[in-house]
Amino acid sequence: MPAPGAAATPGAPVLAIRGASKAYRGGVLALDDVSLTVHPGELLAIVGPSGSGKSTLLNIMGTLDLPTSGSVEIAGRDAAALSDRKLSALRGRWLGFVFQHFHLTEGLTAAENVATGLLYAGVSRHRRRPLALAALERVGLGARTAHLPHQLSGGERQRVAIARALVNDPALVLADEPTGALDSGNGRAVLDLLVKLNREGTTIAVITHDRDIAARMPRRVEIRDGRVISDTDTDTDTGTGRGR
Ligand code: ADP
Repeated sequence: MPAPGAAATPGAPVLAIRGASKAYRGGVLALDDVSLTVHPGELLAIVGPSGSGKSTLLNIMGTLDLPTSGSVEIAGRDAAALSDRKLSALRGRWLGFVFQHFHLTEGLTAAENVATGLLYAGVSRHRRRPLALAALERVGLGARTAHLPHQLSGGERQRVAIARALVNDPALVLADEPTGALDSGNGRAVLDLLVKLNREGTTIAVITHDRDIAARMPRRVEIRDGRVISDTDTDTDTGTGRGR
């Protein structure tokens, strides 16, 4: 298996979940035999109602949690085979996270917030700032680099958070209800931005309960009661969701 920081295998899936189940104490089966493959260049929605298992799946996709059974590979690395330290390195190198409530650090400028996305990536201090400024340009915030979070609108804050997720050129960006805290206009603008970034080559999975948001994504994976009940990529309605 390649080292966590080594180059991605060309053509390999960025994410491969095979037969993953997650049982919580108390007997809740939050995920039940979920398989999901994401290839470079995809833009997909994982959509399901509250309680369907989206957060559990997101945690597993992001290697923040391991399944009780089944396997998870990020860019060809088996998450279960790595120590906590190597798993953090894998996450820092290959994954970008966008949260509903932005999770920006107050007191740091937009550029400094974005640069924190490089802290664990082994990028030298003097290279972090130009990379952060370039990422802010990509999300249309080149004129807001010195603003503090409280000086930005909600939509702008989410764009800073997206720039932070992109700055290290991750294999996969995981966006958890990225428009959930925004009004409809700003929400639409953030979705437009995700579509644009995907066209430029970024692989993105949006986790949402909102079917209208999912409808804007080229691929939709529907989850219900911990199972994949449909995946437009595989056209299965059997819950197997085998990927391509
Ligand atoms: P969603 O994000 O779609 O709302 P979750 O993944 O949070 O769904 O939850 C899926 C199921 O697992 C729910 O029935 C929820 O109550 C249960 N669950 C989630 N987290 C835990 C936990 N830490 N312990 C026990 N049950 C949990």
